[in-house]
Amino acid sequence: MAPKKTAADPLILPGLHAVPSHLASTVLHCPPEAHIPALQAALLDWFAVHQRALPWREKYTPYEVWISEVMLQQTQMERGVAYFKRWMERFPDVASLARAHEEEVLRLWEGLGYYSRARNILRAARLIMERHGGCFPSQEADIRALPGVGPYTAGAIASIAFGASLPCIDANVERVIARLFDLDSPVKQEPAASRLRELALLLVPEGKAREHNQAMMELGALVCGKKARCGICPLASFCSSLHLGIVHERPVPGKRAAITPIEVVTGVLFCQGQIFVQKRLPSGVWGNLWEFPGGRLEPGERPEAAIVREFAEETGFTVQVTGKYGVIRHGYTTYRITLHCFALSLTGPAVTSLPAPPVLTAASDWRWLRRDELDALAMPAAHRKLADSLMMQNARQGLPGILSAR
Ligand code: SF4
Repeated sequence: MAPKKTAADPLILPGLHAVPSHLASTVLHCPPEAHIPALQAALLDWFAVHQRALPWREKYTPYEVWISEVMLQQTQMERGVAYFKRWMERFPDVASLARAHEEEVLRLWEGLGYYSRARNILRAARLIMERHGGCFPSQEADIRALPGVGPYTAGAIASIAFGASLPCIDANVERVIARLFDLDSPVKQEPAASRLRELALLLVPEGKAREHNQAMMELGALVCGKKARCGICPLASFCSSLHLGIVHERPVPGKRAAITPIEVVTGVLFCQGQIFVQKRLPSGVWGNLWEFPGGRLEPGERPEAAIVREFAEETGFTVQVTGKYGVIRHGYTTYRITLHCFALSLTGPAVTSLPAPPVLTAASDWRWLRRDELDALAMPAAHRKLADSLMMQNARQGLPGILSAR
């Protein structure tokens, strides 16, 4: 029989549920607002022991903190570390980055998505050289003024690199705070959004912002993840949601954006052993990246017809389909994209030389390249996959069906 709970039981506060048995020896510190110093200390002690060894934690230079924070906004830690190391080998400081060509920056960024972030990083590096003599600005307002730096990134750089008493609120931190303080409405909307910012600031210990902010993010990543591991959490005795028995209900989910499926075609036009590629216009999605021409299917249109039409509209070339490589499926923001990939040739009598230059309507530049030269281009993820397959096909002396049709 379960032991009888009494009001005198130190593990039960009025109106709260019993804490799980594995926390039976802990002392309750709810509500957490009343125990901020103890909570801060517990978190910092945990971080000192459990933090992961990450390359940007060696020196905490503002440049490294900046690059790591932007990269990690869009990828998992393991992948982010690999990208970070590759980036630092090529661009070890702001000055080397500022001298780089955009194309090389985009190629190094390739696979991380959100290419405007890479372009903004390059613009910001050049601005730091021009306006700040190559020294990374230390004040939050100056950091915020850099291209592409929003409140989160500015807070992260100012606190982690310069020790400013500011919070960093990423998705991990939102989840931790929503559970700790039992925020009962979606954290990205008011009133919870303002409350969350207040609490995040309240939690930052004076002089320890660097460690605290990283500890909050680390706790959200390693312990208070989507599936909370409350049994090993250093903040368990402070956690309102745990003591209410509603961890699985926090954070309260917001409205999910609807996913729109779209069908798109692209074509690899071969001529004289070379492949046609074009550079997207600077503005818009995937600006300045290279691609094989193509576009969306019109209602009722077959993919084979769509690619012939798209080539005529985008380049002025009249092409015919000579083969289908297969289909690439991928997600982009709220779109689920199905990309039909074709092999193409120019129509008409046997072509003995490259055609007259294209008349571009959706691109700023073009090239005819050998397959192995595709490796140097920065391309959107799906086009990179197709390009890699083409290069592998080259190595295997031309096998049909290079992509798996799904
Ligand atoms: S006790 Fe559980 S829900 Fe609360 S902060 Fe820790 S891991 Fe998250």
